[in-house]
Amino acid sequence: MTKRSGLIFAVALIVALFVRANAVVAIAALFLVFVPIEKLFALRPQRVFRRGLLTDLTHLLVNNLFVTAATIVLVVAAALPLLWVRAYDVESMLAPEVAIPLAVVLVFLGSYWGHRLTHQVPFLWRFHAVHHSIEQMDWVASGRLHPIDSAFTQAMTVLPLFVLGYDAGAFAGVAVFVTLLALFQHANVRLRFPVVRWVINTPEWHHWHHALDEEARDKNFGLPVVDKIFGTAYMPKGKRPAAFGTTTPVPQYDYLRQLRFPFTAAARGELADVST
Ligand SMILES: [Zn+2]
Ligand SMILES: [Zn+2]
Repeated sequence: MTKRSGLIFAVALIVALFVRANAVVAIAALFLVFVPIEKLFALRPQRVFRRGLLTDLTHLLVNNLFVTAATIVLVVAAALPLLWVRAYDVESMLAPEVAIPLAVVLVFLGSYWGHRLTHQVPFLWRFHAVHHSIEQMDWVASGRLHPIDSAFTQAMTVLPLFVLGYDAGAFAGVAVFVTLLALFQHANVRLRFPVVRWVINTPEWHHWHHALDEEARDKNFGLPVVDKIFGTAYMPKGKRPAAFGTTTPVPQYDYLRQLRFPFTAAARGELADVST
């Protein structure tokens, strides 16, 4: 731990305690849930207080404070040309047994394409590369997301629901589900979850998304069934990724440098490599 990471984490923690104490309590509770599970079923042996932990916790705290507001701004801005569609309030015309499954399908399609775009559009990759700089996988690492990357993917996830007139309750439900899934799918857990592994994102599934192995590149963007449909699923039997990370030179272990990274020449210099 560097002095600077400790200081930045302390500031983020104090601000979060004042602004959203609930989030701090939730993170503490998650610590109690995930640490024993990751100890019992570890995929790779690693220390709980690994290098970079405070940086990733800082991402978790800060994103919790700002990303929802940024997402709302992006959704409203993107939906401006389609506000006339929202005025029809399509959701209210649908029976719940149609509206709920439709929302689920739209959420998984939106999050898949949002995530896939962050890999295929060079400008978006500069931000998403921060997430792919994770080299030691665990539930805390799930928080390592540049706020702009996080807001963009979340906006893509809920935009279709917003246009069709779904209300705040639906967005809150999506936010809770997406957050829990993100924490779970990054966990340092070797369990394979038979059958379920092709239904919902498991650590085995999402770890391949972070693999440095060439054959796993740009795979597993979303739910297994959605990746199957679009030809990007990869989960070979009896194999695990050799290593996690990215060739894009994102600085490790430094929150402020990770925030700044998308705006640096180093990020621009990598563009030719990531657009394939
Ligand atoms: Zn990704
Ligand atoms: Zn991830």
